[in-house]
Amino acid sequence: MPLTLYIATTNPGKLRDFAAAAEAHAGQVEFAVLPGLENIAAPPENASTFEGNARDKSRFYSLYAANGVVLADDSGLEVDALGGAPGVRSARYAADGGFVPEMAASDSADERNNLFLLKNLHGIPTARRTGRYRCVLAAAQSGDCIAIAESSVEGTILEAPRGSGGFGYDPLFYIADLDRTMAEISLEQKLRISHRGQALRRLLAKLLL
Ligand code: IMP
Repeated sequence: MPLTLYIATTNPGKLRDFAAAAEAHAGQVEFAVLPGLENIAAPPENASTFEGNARDKSRFYSLYAANGVVLADDSGLEVDALGGAPGVRSARYAADGGFVPEMAASDSADERNNLFLLKNLHGIPTARRTGRYRCVLAAAQSGDCIAIAESSVEGTILEAPRGSGGFGYDPLFYIADLDRTMAEISLEQKLRISHRGQALRRLLAKLLL
C-alpha cells in the first residue's frame, strides 16, 4: 500500500512539482491535497528559517488531517549579493519592499518578485549574481513533526528571464551545468536536480524506512 502524504500547499507551482514526484514514486507514495485546505486560514509564517516555517506549517496543518501524515514545504531563493535575500520572504519579496513595477505584463506576484529582484541586482556582474534555492520539507502527524529533510541547488541570477516553465524565480535561475534556466527544463528534470526533488527523496527515505 502506498503511503499517502497530504500536501498543505495551494501554490500551483509546488503542486506541479509534487505531481511529477507522484509519478516518479508511484507505488511507494501518493500525494493528495489536504482535504478542506481552502477553508483553513493559513498560519503566519514568521520563523526566521525555512526549517522553522516548514515545521510550524506541518504541525499546524496535521491537526486537520485526523491521523494522516501532512507534508509542508518552505522554500525560497537566497542571493549572495543581497545578503541571502529574499530568503524566507521569497513569496512576498516585492510586497515587503513596497515595489510596484511601472511596466508589468501581468499582475502576478511572481512577475513582481522577479522584476524587484532584477532591480536590486542592477549593475551587479554575472560572477557576483550567485545564489541558491533552498527547500525544507517537514512531515507531521497529529501535531508532531515526525521527519524533516532539506536540500539546495546552486545557480546564477540572469539579467533577463528565459523560458516559460516552472514558477516563481525559475525564469531567472540559470544552472550552468545544464546551460538552462529552471524554466527551460521539464518537470521530470526539475524533479531530478532541484532543491524540492532532492529534499523529497531524502524525506521519503526517512518515512519509508
Ligand atoms: P513559501 O510558499 O513561503 O515556501 O514561498 C516559496 C517561494 O519561494 C515561492 O513563492 C517562490 O517565490 C520561491 N520558490 C520556492 N521554490 C521555488 C521553485 O522551485 N521555483 C521558483 N521559485 C521558488
